[in-house]
Amino acid sequence: MKYALYATLMVTLLYTYTTSPQLPSHIFRGRILTSPTAPWEPGHIIFPLTQDSIPLEETDKITVDVASPQHRVFYICYITGQKSRVYRFPEGTVTDTLVTIQIPDTSFYEPFAAKKTCPVCLSRKNVIPVLYGFPSPKMFRDADAGKIALGGCVIGDYHPTRYCKKDHLEF
Ligand SMILES: [Zn+2]
Repeated sequence: MKYALYATLMVTLLYTYTTSPQLPSHIFRGRILTSPTAPWEPGHIIFPLTQDSIPLEETDKITVDVASPQHRVFYICYITGQKSRVYRFPEGTVTDTLVTIQIPDTSFYEPFAAKKTCPVCLSRKNVIPVLYGFPSPKMFRDADAGKIALGGCVIGDYHPTRYCKKDHLEF
């Protein structure tokens, strides 16, 4: 009788252990996918809700604690301006154990740029165009008035066409 009870208890414990789903974590773990065209570079994890940031360490792995509400939206930005997609964990929990982070992730931003919608605040309210080339006097005036953002004279491979004034994000 005693052994039977013990055996039942063991089976129950084993069953619980093997079938319970993996508990969601509040630690985001990501690995930056490097490629010959986008090798690892120094950069930051940017938290647009608070405009704070964490420098990338000398490794392609990052961890972010998303328990804090201010750190539930973030992206990775290299010093050259190449960005990962915007990661968003509204519940403060992460289910993937290791997320592969692609930089640059232009295909993520293209639909947002086409719709003139900011990928952080999901609004068009503070989105202005980014204009390139040597600015004319009118462009300088419009930039001062916050109607446009100046993208500079040189158009490189990566040239964002929109800028959100609220989140300070080019896309
Ligand atoms: Zn925004």
